[in-house]
Amino acid sequence: MPTIDYRQLYIGGQWEDPAKSETIEVFSPSTEQQIGSVPRGSETDVDAAVAAARRAFDDPDGWSTWSPSRRGDVLERFAAELEARGEETARRVSMQNGMPIWLAQQFEAGFPPLLLRYYSGIMTATPAEDARPGMLGGTALVSRQPVGVVAAITPWNVPQGISFLKIAPALAAGCTMVLKPAEETVLDAFLMAEAALAAGLPAGVLNVIPGGRDLGAYLVAHPGIDKVSFTGSTAAGRAIGETCGRLLRPVTLELGGKSAAIVLDDADLGANIESFFGVTLLNNGQICWLNTRVLAPRSRYAEIVDTVTGLAGSLTIGDPLDPETKIGPLVSSRQRDRVEGYIAKGKKEGRLTTGGGRPKGLDRGWYVEPTVFADMTNSSQVSCEEIFGPVLSVIPYDNESEAIAIANDSNYGLGGTVWSSDVERATAVAHKVRSGTVGVNHYTNDPVAPFGGIKDSGIGRELGPEGLDAFQVYKTIYLPPA
Ligand code: NAD
Repeated sequence: MPTIDYRQLYIGGQWEDPAKSETIEVFSPSTEQQIGSVPRGSETDVDAAVAAARRAFDDPDGWSTWSPSRRGDVLERFAAELEARGEETARRVSMQNGMPIWLAQQFEAGFPPLLLRYYSGIMTATPAEDARPGMLGGTALVSRQPVGVVAAITPWNVPQGISFLKIAPALAAGCTMVLKPAEETVLDAFLMAEAALAAGLPAGVLNVIPGGRDLGAYLVAHPGIDKVSFTGSTAAGRAIGETCGRLLRPVTLELGGKSAAIVLDDADLGANIESFFGVTLLNNGQICWLNTRVLAPRSRYAEIVDTVTGLAGSLTIGDPLDPETKIGPLVSSRQRDRVEGYIAKGKKEGRLTTGGGRPKGLDRGWYVEPTVFADMTNSSQVSCEEIFGPVLSVIPYDNESEAIAIANDSNYGLGGTVWSSDVERATAVAHKVRSGTVGVNHYTNDPVAPFGGIKDSGIGRELGPEGLDAFQVYKTIYLPPA
Protein backbone atom coordinates (compact mmCIF):
# COMPACT_ATOMS: atom_id res chain seq x y z
CA MET A 1 0.00 0.00 0.00
CA PRO A 2 1.39 3.49 -0.82
CA THR A 3 2.36 5.51 2.22
CA ILE A 4 0.79 8.89 3.06
CA ASP A 5 3.55 11.45 3.18
CA TYR A 6 3.46 15.18 3.76
CA ARG A 7 6.42 17.50 3.24
CA GLN A 8 5.00 20.78 4.55
CA LEU A 9 3.20 22.20 7.58
CA TYR A 10 -0.14 24.04 7.74
CA ILE A 11 0.83 27.48 9.06
CA GLY A 12 -0.84 30.84 8.40
CA GLY A 13 -3.47 29.36 6.07
CA GLN A 14 -1.05 27.69 3.66
CA TRP A 15 1.42 24.84 3.34
CA GLU A 16 4.86 26.02 4.45
CA ASP A 17 8.24 24.33 4.38
CA PRO A 18 9.30 23.19 7.86
CA ALA A 19 12.35 24.82 9.42
CA LYS A 20 14.11 21.46 9.85
CA SER A 21 14.23 18.26 7.83
CA GLU A 22 13.33 15.78 10.60
CA THR A 23 10.22 13.66 10.12
CA ILE A 24 7.69 11.78 12.24
CA GLU A 25 7.11 8.28 10.89
CA VAL A 26 3.72 6.69 11.46
CA PHE A 27 3.25 2.94 11.86
CA SER A 28 0.20 0.72 11.60
CA PRO A 29 -0.44 -1.08 14.90
CA SER A 30 -1.93 -4.05 13.02
CA THR A 31 0.76 -4.58 10.36
CA GLU A 32 3.66 -2.88 12.17
CA GLN A 33 4.51 -1.34 8.77
CA GLN A 34 5.19 2.33 8.16
CA ILE A 35 2.07 3.95 6.70
CA GLY A 36 3.14 7.55 6.40
CA SER A 37 5.24 10.47 7.54
CA VAL A 38 5.01 14.19 8.20
CA PRO A 39 7.60 16.86 9.00
CA ARG A 40 8.49 17.02 12.69
CA GLY A 41 7.68 20.55 13.85
CA SER A 42 10.45 22.54 15.51
CA GLU A 43 10.46 25.51 17.88
CA THR A 44 10.94 27.79 14.86
CA ASP A 45 7.77 26.33 13.30
CA VAL A 46 5.87 26.87 16.56
CA ASP A 47 7.09 30.49 16.60
CA ALA A 48 5.78 30.95 13.05
CA ALA A 49 2.44 29.29 13.86
CA VAL A 50 1.91 31.32 17.04
CA ALA A 51 2.82 34.51 15.16
CA ALA A 52 0.28 33.65 12.43
CA ALA A 53 -2.41 32.88 15.01
CA ARG A 54 -1.54 36.09 16.87
CA ARG A 55 -1.82 38.20 13.70
CA ALA A 56 -5.15 36.57 12.86
CA PHE A 57 -6.46 37.23 16.37
CA ASP A 58 -5.15 40.78 16.72
CA ASP A 59 -6.26 41.95 13.23
CA PRO A 60 -8.71 44.79 14.02
CA ASP A 61 -11.02 43.59 11.22
CA GLY A 62 -10.21 39.91 11.60
CA TRP A 63 -11.77 36.67 12.82
CA SER A 64 -12.16 37.67 16.47
CA THR A 65 -14.15 40.77 15.48
CA TRP A 66 -16.47 39.04 13.01
CA SER A 67 -20.08 38.40 13.92
CA PRO A 68 -20.80 34.84 15.08
CA SER A 69 -22.89 34.23 11.94
CA ARG A 70 -20.07 35.35 9.64
CA ARG A 71 -17.69 32.97 11.43
CA GLY A 72 -20.49 30.39 11.34
CA ASP A 73 -20.59 30.52 7.52
CA VAL A 74 -16.90 29.61 7.38
CA LEU A 75 -17.31 26.90 10.02
CA GLU A 76 -20.22 25.43 8.04
CA ARG A 77 -17.93 25.18 5.00
CA PHE A 78 -15.29 23.59 7.26
CA ALA A 79 -17.89 21.04 8.47
CA ALA A 80 -18.82 20.23 4.87
CA GLU A 81 -15.18 19.78 3.84
CA LEU A 82 -14.63 17.46 6.81
CA GLU A 83 -17.71 15.47 5.82
CA ALA A 84 -16.37 15.13 2.29
CA ARG A 85 -13.24 13.56 3.84
CA GLY A 86 -15.10 11.58 6.53
CA GLU A 87 -14.40 8.09 5.20
CA GLU A 88 -10.72 8.86 4.75
CA THR A 89 -10.51 10.45 8.21
CA ALA A 90 -11.98 7.32 9.79
CA ARG A 91 -9.65 5.09 7.76
CA ARG A 92 -6.54 7.08 8.71
CA VAL A 93 -7.37 7.09 12.42
CA SER A 94 -8.12 3.39 12.37
CA MET A 95 -4.86 2.67 10.54
CA GLN A 96 -2.84 4.76 12.99
CA ASN A 97 -4.21 3.86 16.42
CA GLY A 98 -6.16 0.62 15.90
CA MET A 99 -9.60 2.11 16.57
CA PRO A 100 -12.24 -0.20 15.04
CA ILE A 101 -13.43 1.43 11.82
CA TRP A 102 -17.13 1.54 12.79
CA LEU A 103 -16.16 3.52 15.89
CA ALA A 104 -13.83 5.81 13.92
CA GLN A 105 -16.74 6.60 11.61
CA GLN A 106 -18.75 7.83 14.61
CA PHE A 107 -16.10 9.48 16.82
CA GLU A 108 -13.66 10.70 14.23
CA ALA A 109 -15.70 11.38 11.07
CA GLY A 110 -19.13 12.11 12.56
CA PHE A 111 -18.41 14.10 15.72
CA PRO A 112 -16.25 16.99 14.38
CA PRO A 113 -18.78 18.46 11.87
CA LEU A 114 -21.53 18.04 14.45
CA LEU A 115 -19.51 20.01 17.01
CA LEU A 116 -18.69 22.81 14.55
CA ARG A 117 -22.39 23.27 13.80
CA TYR A 118 -23.39 22.97 17.44
CA TYR A 119 -21.03 25.71 18.64
CA SER A 120 -21.70 28.05 15.68
CA GLY A 121 -25.39 27.63 16.46
CA ILE A 122 -24.94 28.55 20.13
CA MET A 123 -22.79 31.57 19.31
CA THR A 124 -25.26 32.82 16.70
CA ALA A 125 -28.24 32.38 19.03
CA THR A 126 -26.64 34.03 22.07
CA PRO A 127 -27.02 37.81 22.40
CA ALA A 128 -23.63 39.50 22.13
CA GLU A 129 -24.22 41.78 25.10
CA ASP A 130 -26.30 41.92 28.22
CA ALA A 131 -27.26 45.47 29.34
CA ARG A 132 -27.83 45.39 33.11
CA PRO A 133 -29.45 48.36 34.83
CA GLY A 134 -27.02 49.17 37.65
CA MET A 135 -27.87 49.25 41.36
CA LEU A 136 -25.59 52.24 41.82
CA GLY A 137 -26.72 54.23 38.78
CA GLY A 138 -25.68 53.73 35.17
CA THR A 139 -25.80 50.56 33.12
CA ALA A 140 -23.33 47.68 32.97
CA LEU A 141 -22.78 46.26 29.48
CA VAL A 142 -21.58 42.69 29.95
CA SER A 143 -20.16 40.73 27.03
CA ARG A 144 -18.08 37.63 26.45
CA GLN A 145 -14.88 38.13 24.51
CA PRO A 146 -12.74 35.44 22.87
CA VAL A 147 -9.82 34.62 25.18
CA GLY A 148 -7.21 34.89 22.42
CA VAL A 149 -4.66 32.55 20.88
CA VAL A 150 -5.20 28.98 22.09
CA ALA A 151 -2.57 26.23 22.33
CA ALA A 152 -4.39 22.89 21.95
CA ILE A 153 -2.52 19.67 22.76
CA THR A 154 -4.22 16.35 22.06
CA PRO A 155 -3.65 12.59 22.57
CA TRP A 156 -3.72 9.73 20.08
CA ASN A 157 -6.69 7.74 21.34
CA VAL A 158 -9.54 9.76 19.80
CA PRO A 159 -7.48 12.29 17.85
CA GLN A 160 -10.10 14.08 15.73
CA GLY A 161 -12.98 13.85 18.19
CA ILE A 162 -10.86 15.31 20.99
CA SER A 163 -9.29 17.99 18.77
CA PHE A 164 -12.76 19.25 17.87
CA LEU A 165 -13.79 19.48 21.53
CA LYS A 166 -11.31 22.35 21.40
CA ILE A 167 -11.36 23.60 17.79
CA ALA A 168 -15.16 23.92 17.50
CA PRO A 169 -15.87 26.09 20.58
CA ALA A 170 -12.61 28.04 20.27
CA LEU A 171 -13.12 29.05 16.63
CA ALA A 172 -16.84 29.68 17.09
CA ALA A 173 -16.00 32.02 20.00
CA GLY A 174 -13.53 33.97 17.82
CA CYS A 175 -10.25 32.52 19.11
CA THR A 176 -7.40 31.39 16.89
CA MET A 177 -5.40 28.23 17.52
CA VAL A 178 -2.18 26.29 17.24
CA LEU A 179 -2.89 22.55 17.48
CA LYS A 180 -0.19 20.07 18.43
CA PRO A 181 -1.45 16.56 17.75
CA ALA A 182 0.18 13.47 19.27
CA GLU A 183 2.97 11.92 17.21
CA GLU A 184 1.13 8.63 16.78
CA THR A 185 -1.81 10.27 15.01
CA VAL A 186 -0.66 13.02 12.69
CA LEU A 187 -2.06 11.85 9.34
CA ASP A 188 -5.67 12.64 10.31
CA ALA A 189 -4.56 16.06 11.57
CA PHE A 190 -3.04 16.87 8.17
CA LEU A 191 -6.21 15.72 6.41
CA MET A 192 -8.14 18.07 8.72
CA ALA A 193 -5.74 20.88 7.68
CA GLU A 194 -6.57 20.12 4.03
CA ALA A 195 -10.25 20.53 4.91
CA ALA A 196 -9.55 23.84 6.68
CA LEU A 197 -7.68 25.11 3.64
CA ALA A 198 -10.43 24.01 1.24
CA ALA A 199 -13.05 25.67 3.46
CA GLY A 200 -11.20 29.00 3.25
CA LEU A 201 -10.49 29.45 6.94
CA PRO A 202 -8.79 32.87 7.13
CA ALA A 203 -5.00 32.71 7.35
CA GLY A 204 -3.70 31.87 10.82
CA VAL A 205 -7.05 30.99 12.41
CA LEU A 206 -5.92 27.36 12.70
CA ASN A 207 -2.36 26.02 12.50
CA VAL A 208 -1.12 22.45 12.98
CA ILE A 209 2.38 21.67 14.28
CA PRO A 210 3.10 18.00 15.03
CA GLY A 211 5.72 17.06 17.57
CA GLY A 212 6.40 15.39 20.87
CA ARG A 213 6.37 16.28 24.52
CA ASP A 214 9.17 18.88 24.36
CA LEU A 215 7.51 20.76 21.54
CA GLY A 216 4.23 20.64 23.48
CA ALA A 217 5.97 22.12 26.52
CA TYR A 218 7.50 24.85 24.34
CA LEU A 219 4.06 25.72 22.92
CA VAL A 220 2.42 25.80 26.37
CA ALA A 221 4.99 28.32 27.67
CA HIS A 222 5.11 30.41 24.49
CA PRO A 223 4.67 34.15 25.21
CA GLY A 224 2.19 34.50 22.32
CA ILE A 225 -0.31 32.04 23.85
CA ASP A 226 -3.32 33.25 25.89
CA LYS A 227 -4.93 29.93 26.79
CA VAL A 228 -3.96 26.25 26.94
CA SER A 229 -6.38 23.40 26.36
CA PHE A 230 -4.89 19.97 27.02
CA THR A 231 -6.14 16.39 26.87
CA GLY A 232 -3.82 13.59 27.87
CA SER A 233 -2.25 11.87 30.83
CA THR A 234 -2.45 13.15 34.38
CA ALA A 235 1.36 13.33 34.57
CA ALA A 236 1.59 15.61 31.53
CA GLY A 237 -1.43 17.61 32.77
CA ARG A 238 0.33 18.26 36.07
CA ALA A 239 3.45 19.54 34.27
CA ILE A 240 1.34 21.78 32.01
CA GLY A 241 -0.71 23.00 34.98
CA GLU A 242 2.49 23.98 36.79
CA THR A 243 3.71 26.00 33.82
CA CYS A 244 0.34 27.70 33.41
CA GLY A 245 0.19 28.46 37.14
CA ARG A 246 3.56 30.19 36.97
CA LEU A 247 2.50 32.17 33.90
CA LEU A 248 -1.03 32.82 35.23
CA ARG A 249 -2.25 31.38 31.93
CA PRO A 250 -5.77 29.94 31.84
CA VAL A 251 -5.73 26.18 31.27
CA THR A 252 -8.24 23.38 30.74
CA LEU A 253 -7.03 19.87 31.62
CA GLU A 254 -8.85 16.71 30.52
CA LEU A 255 -6.84 13.90 32.09
CA GLY A 256 -6.94 10.24 33.03
CA GLY A 257 -9.52 8.10 34.76
CA LYS A 258 -10.30 4.81 36.50
CA SER A 259 -14.06 4.94 36.53
CA ALA A 260 -16.41 2.42 38.12
CA ALA A 261 -19.43 0.58 36.75
CA ILE A 262 -21.68 -0.03 39.76
CA VAL A 263 -23.82 -3.07 38.99
CA LEU A 264 -26.75 -3.01 41.43
CA ASP A 265 -28.37 -6.24 42.63
CA ASP A 266 -31.40 -5.77 40.34
CA ALA A 267 -29.39 -5.09 37.15
CA ASP A 268 -29.98 -6.98 33.93
CA LEU A 269 -26.52 -6.72 32.37
CA GLY A 270 -27.37 -9.29 29.72
CA ALA A 271 -30.13 -7.05 28.33
CA ASN A 272 -27.70 -4.10 28.19
CA ILE A 273 -24.61 -5.95 27.05
CA GLU A 274 -23.90 -3.70 24.04
CA SER A 275 -23.97 -0.61 26.25
CA PHE A 276 -21.88 -2.40 28.84
CA PHE A 277 -19.28 -3.20 26.18
CA GLY A 278 -19.38 0.49 25.22
CA VAL A 279 -18.37 1.60 28.72
CA THR A 280 -15.76 -1.06 29.46
CA LEU A 281 -13.81 -2.19 26.40
CA LEU A 282 -14.58 0.34 23.66
CA ASN A 283 -11.62 1.45 21.50
CA ASN A 284 -9.56 -1.49 22.77
CA GLY A 285 -9.75 -0.09 26.30
CA GLN A 286 -8.13 3.19 25.28
CA ILE A 287 -10.63 5.84 26.37
CA CYS A 288 -10.20 8.02 29.43
CA TRP A 289 -13.73 7.57 30.83
CA LEU A 290 -13.98 3.77 30.49
CA ASN A 291 -15.29 1.86 33.50
CA THR A 292 -12.37 -0.44 34.16
CA ARG A 293 -13.54 -1.22 37.69
CA VAL A 294 -16.71 -3.33 37.71
CA LEU A 295 -18.35 -3.34 41.16
CA ALA A 296 -20.55 -6.42 41.62
CA PRO A 297 -22.87 -7.29 44.55
CA ARG A 298 -21.79 -10.39 46.45
CA SER A 299 -25.36 -11.75 46.19
CA ARG A 300 -24.89 -12.10 42.39
CA TYR A 301 -21.13 -12.05 42.19
CA ALA A 302 -20.44 -15.34 40.35
CA GLU A 303 -23.12 -14.61 37.75
CA ILE A 304 -21.81 -11.10 37.04
CA VAL A 305 -18.22 -12.32 36.78
CA ASP A 306 -19.51 -14.89 34.26
CA THR A 307 -21.34 -12.21 32.22
CA VAL A 308 -18.32 -9.88 32.11
CA THR A 309 -16.00 -12.80 31.32
CA GLY A 310 -18.35 -14.02 28.58
CA LEU A 311 -18.49 -10.56 27.03
CA ALA A 312 -14.71 -10.05 27.04
CA GLY A 313 -14.09 -13.56 25.73
CA SER A 314 -16.56 -13.28 22.86
CA LEU A 315 -15.31 -10.10 21.16
CA THR A 316 -13.94 -10.41 17.63
CA ILE A 317 -10.30 -9.35 17.66
CA GLY A 318 -8.56 -8.37 14.44
CA ASP A 319 -7.85 -5.85 11.72
CA PRO A 320 -9.36 -2.52 12.81
CA LEU A 321 -10.35 -1.79 9.19
CA ASP A 322 -12.65 -4.86 9.18
CA PRO A 323 -16.17 -3.68 10.12
CA GLU A 324 -16.70 -6.92 12.12
CA THR A 325 -13.78 -6.17 14.46
CA LYS A 326 -14.71 -5.25 18.01
CA ILE A 327 -11.18 -5.15 19.43
CA GLY A 328 -8.21 -3.89 17.43
CA PRO A 329 -4.56 -3.65 18.40
CA LEU A 330 -3.15 -1.23 20.95
CA VAL A 331 -1.60 1.93 19.57
CA SER A 332 2.07 0.99 19.94
CA SER A 333 4.39 -1.76 21.13
CA ARG A 334 5.26 0.51 24.08
CA GLN A 335 1.59 0.65 25.06
CA ARG A 336 1.30 -3.14 24.73
CA ASP A 337 4.35 -3.61 26.98
CA ARG A 338 2.73 -1.34 29.54
CA VAL A 339 -0.59 -3.20 29.45
CA GLU A 340 1.14 -6.60 29.62
CA GLY A 341 3.06 -5.36 32.65
CA TYR A 342 -0.26 -4.68 34.39
CA ILE A 343 -1.64 -8.07 33.33
CA ALA A 344 1.38 -9.74 34.98
CA LYS A 345 0.62 -7.82 38.18
CA GLY A 346 -3.07 -8.72 37.95
CA LYS A 347 -2.22 -12.43 37.82
CA LYS A 348 -0.70 -12.01 41.29
CA GLU A 349 -3.40 -9.68 42.63
CA GLY A 350 -6.56 -11.49 41.51
CA ARG A 351 -8.09 -14.38 39.56
CA LEU A 352 -7.74 -14.29 35.76
CA THR A 353 -11.06 -15.35 34.21
CA THR A 354 -10.38 -14.66 30.53
CA GLY A 355 -7.65 -13.25 28.29
CA GLY A 356 -4.29 -12.39 29.76
CA GLY A 357 -2.26 -13.06 26.63
CA ARG A 358 -1.88 -12.26 22.95
CA PRO A 359 -4.61 -13.54 20.65
CA LYS A 360 -3.74 -16.66 18.70
CA GLY A 361 -3.43 -16.40 14.94
CA LEU A 362 -2.44 -12.74 14.96
CA ASP A 363 1.31 -12.90 14.57
CA ARG A 364 1.68 -9.28 13.62
CA GLY A 365 0.32 -6.27 15.41
CA TRP A 366 0.26 -5.02 18.96
CA TYR A 367 -2.76 -7.04 20.09
CA VAL A 368 -3.74 -7.96 23.64
CA GLU A 369 -6.72 -10.15 24.52
CA PRO A 370 -9.54 -8.49 26.49
CA THR A 371 -8.69 -9.52 30.04
CA VAL A 372 -10.82 -9.84 33.17
CA PHE A 373 -9.59 -10.25 36.73
CA ALA A 374 -12.12 -11.30 39.39
CA ASP A 375 -11.78 -11.19 43.18
CA MET A 376 -9.86 -7.92 43.01
CA THR A 377 -9.63 -5.39 45.81
CA ASN A 378 -10.01 -1.71 45.02
CA SER A 379 -6.54 -1.02 46.41
CA SER A 380 -4.66 -3.39 44.10
CA GLN A 381 -2.46 -1.68 41.52
CA VAL A 382 -4.50 -3.01 38.58
CA SER A 383 -7.68 -1.65 40.19
CA CYS A 384 -6.47 1.82 41.04
CA GLU A 385 -4.04 2.81 38.29
CA GLU A 386 -5.06 3.80 34.78
CA ILE A 387 -3.93 1.01 32.43
CA PHE A 388 -5.35 2.31 29.13
CA GLY A 389 -5.92 -1.12 27.66
CA PRO A 390 -8.61 -3.86 27.64
CA VAL A 391 -8.18 -4.96 31.26
CA LEU A 392 -11.07 -5.05 33.76
CA SER A 393 -11.13 -5.63 37.54
CA VAL A 394 -14.30 -7.10 39.04
CA ILE A 395 -14.56 -6.03 42.69
CA PRO A 396 -17.19 -7.48 45.08
CA TYR A 397 -19.27 -5.31 47.43
CA ASP A 398 -21.81 -6.06 50.18
CA ASN A 399 -24.30 -3.20 50.00
CA GLU A 400 -25.12 -0.07 48.02
CA SER A 401 -23.30 2.35 50.31
CA GLU A 402 -20.17 0.20 50.15
CA ALA A 403 -20.41 0.23 46.33
CA ILE A 404 -20.58 4.03 46.31
CA ALA A 405 -17.66 4.25 48.75
CA ILE A 406 -15.53 1.97 46.55
CA ALA A 407 -16.45 3.93 43.41
CA ASN A 408 -15.42 7.15 45.16
CA ASP A 409 -12.21 5.69 46.60
CA SER A 410 -10.12 6.76 43.62
CA ASN A 411 -7.68 9.53 42.79
CA TYR A 412 -9.72 10.06 39.62
CA GLY A 413 -13.28 11.27 38.98
CA LEU A 414 -14.11 11.36 35.28
CA GLY A 415 -16.83 8.87 34.32
CA GLY A 416 -18.86 6.02 35.77
CA THR A 417 -22.11 4.16 35.32
CA VAL A 418 -24.86 2.62 37.44
CA TRP A 419 -26.73 -0.46 36.20
CA SER A 420 -30.18 -1.32 37.55
CA SER A 421 -33.66 -2.21 36.36
CA ASP A 422 -34.90 0.73 38.45
CA VAL A 423 -33.77 3.98 36.78
CA GLU A 424 -34.84 6.10 39.76
CA ARG A 425 -32.79 4.01 42.17
CA ALA A 426 -29.78 4.10 39.82
CA THR A 427 -30.10 7.87 39.41
CA ALA A 428 -30.04 8.32 43.20
CA VAL A 429 -26.82 6.29 43.33
CA ALA A 430 -25.40 8.27 40.36
CA HIS A 431 -25.93 11.48 42.36
CA LYS A 432 -23.63 10.09 45.08
CA VAL A 433 -20.78 9.15 42.75
CA ARG A 434 -18.00 11.76 42.93
CA SER A 435 -17.26 12.20 39.26
CA GLY A 436 -17.75 14.73 36.46
CA THR A 437 -20.08 12.42 34.51
CA VAL A 438 -22.12 9.29 35.32
CA GLY A 439 -24.37 7.22 33.05
CA VAL A 440 -27.42 5.15 33.96
CA ASN A 441 -27.60 1.87 32.00
CA HIS A 442 -25.66 3.60 29.21
CA TYR A 443 -23.05 6.33 28.76
CA THR A 444 -22.61 8.81 25.97
CA ASN A 445 -20.74 12.10 25.72
CA ASP A 446 -23.71 14.04 24.40
CA PRO A 447 -22.62 17.42 22.95
CA VAL A 448 -25.35 19.27 24.88
CA ALA A 449 -23.88 18.59 28.33
CA PRO A 450 -20.52 19.38 29.96
CA PHE A 451 -17.89 16.64 30.12
CA GLY A 452 -14.79 16.63 32.30
CA GLY A 453 -13.32 15.45 35.54
CA ILE A 454 -12.59 16.22 39.16
CA LYS A 455 -9.54 15.30 41.26
CA ASP A 456 -6.70 13.87 39.12
CA SER A 457 -9.03 13.71 36.10
CA GLY A 458 -8.61 17.39 35.44
CA ILE A 459 -9.85 20.96 35.61
CA GLY A 460 -12.57 22.54 33.49
CA ARG A 461 -15.26 21.25 31.16
CA GLU A 462 -15.68 20.60 27.46
CA LEU A 463 -18.95 20.16 25.53
CA GLY A 464 -22.28 21.81 26.26
CA PRO A 465 -22.65 25.59 26.31
CA GLU A 466 -20.25 25.33 29.28
CA GLY A 467 -17.52 24.22 26.85
CA LEU A 468 -17.43 27.79 25.52
CA ASP A 469 -16.40 29.12 28.94
CA ALA A 470 -12.87 27.88 28.38
CA PHE A 471 -12.49 30.14 25.36
CA GLN A 472 -14.24 33.29 26.54
CA VAL A 473 -13.63 35.99 29.11
CA TYR A 474 -16.21 38.37 30.49
CA LYS A 475 -15.88 42.06 29.82
CA THR A 476 -17.86 44.82 31.51
CA ILE A 477 -18.32 48.38 30.23
CA TYR A 478 -19.85 50.77 32.77
CA LEU A 479 -22.13 53.27 31.02
CA PRO A 480 -22.93 56.52 32.84
CA PRO A 481 -26.42 57.24 34.19
CA ALA A 482 -28.67 58.61 31.42
P1 NAD B 1 0.25 12.02 26.98
O1 NAD B 1 -0.04 12.90 28.13
O2 NAD B 1 1.52 11.26 26.98
O3 NAD B 1 0.27 12.87 25.62
C1 NAD B 1 -0.83 13.67 25.24
C2 NAD B 1 -0.33 14.83 24.42
O4 NAD B 1 0.44 15.70 25.23
C3 NAD B 1 0.59 14.45 23.26
O5 NAD B 1 0.33 15.33 22.19
C4 NAD B 1 1.98 14.68 23.85
O6 NAD B 1 2.95 14.94 22.85
C5 NAD B 1 1.75 15.89 24.71
N1 NAD B 1 2.59 16.04 25.89
C6 NAD B 1 3.06 15.07 26.71
N2 NAD B 1 3.75 15.61 27.72
C7 NAD B 1 3.69 16.96 27.58
C8 NAD B 1 4.19 18.07 28.32
N3 NAD B 1 4.89 17.91 29.45
N4 NAD B 1 3.92 19.32 27.87
C9 NAD B 1 3.20 19.51 26.74
N5 NAD B 1 2.71 18.50 25.98
C10 NAD B 1 2.95 17.23 26.40
O7 NAD B 1 -1.01 11.08 26.83
P2 NAD B 1 -1.27 9.93 25.76
O8 NAD B 1 -0.52 8.72 26.16
O9 NAD B 1 -1.09 10.45 24.39
O10 NAD B 1 -2.85 9.71 25.96
C11 NAD B 1 -3.36 8.88 26.92
C12 NAD B 1 -3.80 9.66 28.15
O11 NAD B 1 -4.74 10.67 27.78
C13 NAD B 1 -4.52 8.80 29.14
O12 NAD B 1 -4.07 9.10 30.44
C14 NAD B 1 -5.97 9.20 29.00
O13 NAD B 1 -6.76 8.98 30.11
C15 NAD B 1 -5.86 10.63 28.67
N6 NAD B 1 -7.07 11.11 27.99
C16 NAD B 1 -7.93 11.91 28.66
C17 NAD B 1 -9.11 12.33 28.05
C18 NAD B 1 -10.11 13.21 28.76
O14 NAD B 1 -10.95 13.81 28.10
N7 NAD B 1 -10.08 13.34 30.06
C19 NAD B 1 -9.40 11.93 26.76
C20 NAD B 1 -8.49 11.10 26.11
C21 NAD B 1 -7.31 10.71 26.74
